[in-house]
Amino acid sequence: MNIRTGQGIDFHRLQDGLDLWLGGVKIPSTKGCVAHSDGDALLHAICDALLGAAGLNDIGHYFPDNKEEFRNIDSKILLGRTIDIISGKGYRVINIDSTICLESPKIAPFIPEMKKSVSEITGLSPDSVGIKATTTEKMGFAGRGEGLFAIASVLIEKI
Ligand SMILES: [Zn+2]
Repeated sequence: MNIRTGQGIDFHRLQDGLDLWLGGVKIPSTKGCVAHSDGDALLHAICDALLGAAGLNDIGHYFPDNKEEFRNIDSKILLGRTIDIISGKGYRVINIDSTICLESPKIAPFIPEMKKSVSEITGLSPDSVGIKATTTEKMGFAGRGEGLFAIASVLIEKI
């Protein structure tokens, strides 16, 4: 059995007037993430966890934020390509777990939709995709609403 674990973390600044994308779902919000792509921190953390588990380079290596090709790109496409990359190395995803940390808006109502979105891209069943939400109890940059971050862990196996 060749099972490997990976972890990923992603931070983005929040700014008024931008769309907020998390887990491939557009969340109603007055603020969104500042990014070259759509700024979906959860999907970016999952991509990094998958790439790390396979012993590959990080997300910025495969999808550089100075390339026009990736401007405003839907991060669901990046996750799909990441799955293709690790599949090409002979790996399949077993499960994903993740946490999103932000002060507001409350994202719990959108978690089932995010799970569905991530499971559709990765080919996992929704019960193999963990997504939780938390806050920093008003401490630090996340607590002040200046930014958010997401953490992901994955297990993959060599087929
Ligand atoms: Zn990101």
